[in-house]
Order: sequence, then C-alpha cells, then structure tokens
Amino acid sequence: MDTSLRNVVILGSGCAGLTAAVYAARANLKPLVLEGHEPGGQLSITTLVENFPGFVEGIQGPELIENIKKQAARFGAEYHMGHVVSADFVKRPFVLDLGSVQIQTRTVIIASGASARWLGLPSEQALIGHGVSSCATCDGFFFNGKEITVIGGGDSAMEEALFLTRFATKVTIIHRRDVFRASKIMLDRARQHPKIEFLTDTTVDEVYDVNAKEVTGLKLHNLKTGKQWDFPTSAMFLGIGHEPNAKWVNGQLDTDADGYLLTKNNVFTRVPGVFACGDVQDRRYRQAISAAGSGCMAAMEAEKFLEEEGR
Ligand code: NAP
Repeated sequence: MDTSLRNVVILGSGCAGLTAAVYAARANLKPLVLEGHEPGGQLSITTLVENFPGFVEGIQGPELIENIKKQAARFGAEYHMGHVVSADFVKRPFVLDLGSVQIQTRTVIIASGASARWLGLPSEQALIGHGVSSCATCDGFFFNGKEITVIGGGDSAMEEALFLTRFATKVTIIHRRDVFRASKIMLDRARQHPKIEFLTDTTVDEVYDVNAKEVTGLKLHNLKTGKQWDFPTSAMFLGIGHEPNAKWVNGQLDTDADGYLLTKNNVFTRVPGVFACGDVQDRRYRQAISAAGSGCMAAMEAEKFLEEEGR
C-alpha cells in the first residue's frame, strides 16, 4: 500500500463507506478505503434487499456491495484490507495507525458501521461458531432439518427467522417483551409462517452444552412468571441489534451514551476534516439507503473541506 499523504481515507467498506468512495473517487481525490473488520458491512451478510430504490425485484446484499465497490474502483478508489487501531485527530495531517503501518491523511471519513450485539453470556460466547451465530445467511445451512432459535424482536430477528425456515423444521423466536420493534410487514410474515413459533417475555439464562462444544438447548426464563425451564434447540441465532464500531476513537470525537458518533448537519464531527456517515453515527434509520445518502454527504463535505484548504 502507498503510504504517502492521502487526501481522503475512508474507514469501512459498507454501503456508507463505498458510496463515499464513489463520490470521492469521482471528485478525483483517489480515496483509500480501509475495508475494516467486516468487509462489505452488514449488507454482505444479508440476503435479498427489497427496499433499495432502483431494484424492482430487489437485489442480494453482497451483490449490491460488490457493485458499489467496483463502481468506486472504476473512478480510482483504492482498497486495503485492514482496520484502524487508533487515530490522532489532534495533529494535522491526521494519523491513522493500522498496527503494522501508519497513514497520514488530510481528511477522514468514518464509516466503520456497527457490529452484531451478543447477549454476553459466557456459555453463548464459548459456543460462537458451534451453534451460536449472528448471521443466518452464513450459518443457517449447517442446521438443515433441525430446530432453531432466534433471539430478538426487531426486523433483524424476523428476517433471520424467515430465512432460517429454509433449513429448519421449526424456528422459535424468543423475545424479552411482548411488544415488537419489527415493522408490521415483517412481523406479520413471521407470524403467518407455519414453521415459526414465538416465545415472548422470555430471556436466555444459559446456552447448553459448552462441554459438548455444540448447542443442545437453552435455559429460558419467563420475565413475567419467573418460571425457568430447559428448551431443546440445535442453534441460537442472535438478532438483537448492533453496537457502533467507534471504540478506537478513544474520546477524540463526541459520542452518545451507547458509543454512536455524534454529528452535526448529518456528517460533521467536532474535528474539522473528520466526517462520519452510516450506522456508526445513525441509530435512528440504519438503512442501506440512508447509509448511502450520508456517505455521499460525507464525501462531498470532505471535497469542500479540501477545496477550502486550497488542495
Ligand atoms: P432493533 O430494531 O434495535 O431490535 C433489536 C431487538 O433486540 C429488540 O427487539 C430488542 O428488544 C432486542 N434486544 C436488544 N438487546 C437485547 C438483549 N440484550 N437481550 C434480548 N433482547 C435484546 O435492531 P434490528 O432488528 O437489528 O434492526 C435495526 C434497524 O435495521 C431497524 O431500523 C430495522 O428496521 C432495520 N432492518 C430492516 C430490515 C428489513 O427491512 N429487511 C432487516 C433488518 C433490519 P427490546 O425491543 O425489548 O428493546
């Protein structure tokens, strides 16, 4: 990788980062995209995207991402597999530390997204990859002909559950309340599916069986009655939302209590020249199209910033 001073470095290669790359590349800024921990972001592990404008029949998430990536590359965007360990936003040019190499840049676009949230139980953590997963698209196939559990009450949980009906004999959605955040259309689809059942007001206290290195069941807990019971299942898929990937910012930018970057006028952080877009700064909409929109804004503001600085 060329480590000479950059105009724009984009952190993250999801919908926001890649859209920023398209705009920055077309502005001839030769952006460098650091692909991050999860190249392609959340769209790369989803299935059919039905609500991105322009695709009458929908488009597969990974295909959409690959297309935007190629589109930006056509105009000169460069990609590097790596992620920022720490950054110095005090000095100018800014310094991004990737562990093995440091990059200097005049502007930074943070599009580092958000990652799947876990329950945090030791037994859950021990069984990740052995029946515990946050990606139905990636791991559903392994549970063909089995009974599967999905945790959560939002659109992610409904989407995972519906997808898993392709493989499972039964999918149980376990939600800690009896009110759902999921959109009506997704909830109705799940409710009407003959393979899907619901357990509400219920949480998971433990995942069995750590010793056997496979999921055999869950210890469940009804929050209203206090009843605890063992529930057999072959897999537990988490669909309980996401955490913003901004810990590495280390207090240099403003965040809310949950760690989402705070921005003004959509994409401005408190450091001039550092912009943020997509799910790392958006806890409200979190859609591919809103991420793309803010990626566009961040790139246009980076371009304007460089222009005003006389670059
Ligand atoms: P979300 O809407 O925030 O829902 C998270 C769910 O997980 C909530 O039901 C929450 O319960 C539950 N939860 C959170 N922490 C938990 C914990 N520690 N233990 C048990 N349950 C927990 O997140 P999301 O479903 O990932 O959706 C995020 C955004 O993406 C939304 O805007 C959604 O519409 C969008 N999305 C859209 C689609 C689609 O249209 N195809 C698909 C996926 C996502 P509480 O309700 O009790 O807080």
